[in-house]
Amino acid sequence: MTKSLDEQAHAGIHGLHAYVPGKPIDDLKRELGLSSIIKLASNENPFGVAPAVKQAFADFVEHGAADLHRYPDGGGYALKQKIAAIHDIDPARVTLGNGSNDVLELTARVFLGPGKNAVFSQYAFAVYPIVAQAVNAEVREVPALGPDADMPYGHDLDAFIEHIDDNTGVVFIASPNNPTGTWLAPQAIEAFLEAVPPGVIVLLDEAYLEYQADSERPDSRALVDRFDNLIVTRTFSKIYGMAGLRVGYSLSSAKVADWINRIRQPFNVNTVALYCAEAALADEEFVRYSIQTNAVQRASLARELEARGHHCLPSQANFLTFDCGRASTPVYEAMLHEGVIVRPLQSYALPEHLRVTVGSEEENRVFLAALDAVMEGE
Ligand code: PMP
Repeated sequence: MTKSLDEQAHAGIHGLHAYVPGKPIDDLKRELGLSSIIKLASNENPFGVAPAVKQAFADFVEHGAADLHRYPDGGGYALKQKIAAIHDIDPARVTLGNGSNDVLELTARVFLGPGKNAVFSQYAFAVYPIVAQAVNAEVREVPALGPDADMPYGHDLDAFIEHIDDNTGVVFIASPNNPTGTWLAPQAIEAFLEAVPPGVIVLLDEAYLEYQADSERPDSRALVDRFDNLIVTRTFSKIYGMAGLRVGYSLSSAKVADWINRIRQPFNVNTVALYCAEAALADEEFVRYSIQTNAVQRASLARELEARGHHCLPSQANFLTFDCGRASTPVYEAMLHEGVIVRPLQSYALPEHLRVTVGSEEENRVFLAALDAVMEGE
């Protein structure tokens, strides 16, 4: 008897649901015939693409687009050199990905598989279980800190240690974490790395690091020198406004970078993305502006939400997660009719919370007006 088609997909796949992204603007336009839409659902940069990236893109089209018939530089030499210089690290310890998501997946493929387990927090980024189950590894969700903790719904690193055993291949921690916005104190990260067995990979996901206050940021660059089992991931999708181009990277030991390099697609980052990411790194002014504006707007948005009785989780990211005080999916749906896309967190088992990306001042005003209209209309 040959196997049925259903049996051919492994158990991990059967246990998975596909990642649900923020609703695309064009979908809503099509569905509701709306012309003016604000999307605050995927933690993108409200100020768009960094000006240096726009310029690089234009230059590329003008001068180099003819090279698009060639494969990209699979080793990403020039971009790796620039990233390495910024972090004062050997380029052999830099791994490029098609978004940092790619590096998460590659890490799972190197260090996880049947019989191994991945450890991550409840309310952590939804991609961790996906990449782990995709290779048929066991997923271990560590209960998060409670709603009344100093860091409500944050990672409970002490409890992580209890979930790690001889079969643990990767521990995923995110700081700041999506969808909560919560973060880990630098000393807590360091103590955690000291407590984790040296043969267990710790992936510290820093997709939102730039939005953190300087005093809250860990010195992850120094930590990758101390801990060979540490992989730190960063992205060009958020602060550089390059989500559509798909570039991210990791810093790790050279050994780990070499292993990941063995299994990645030979040309996992495309030519345009490589070129634009190089330019992005030089645009310090845009980064500074994005950081400062986000901090001001995040504080003001949190004040407005709190004034309406919507308690916000502490956030050091470019989004806020707040309590609607009622089922949030219907609120999300009603807001779509107002032309505002946010993110309901039912799929994260936070059925009364919504996540909203911190937008420009104008976008936040429109968001609050839509929220008021929906709340008052009920
Ligand atoms: N990590 C976290 C915590 C995220 O929220 C995201 C994107 N939403 C990613 C990683 C992946 O981002 P990208 O692939 O665009 O770098």
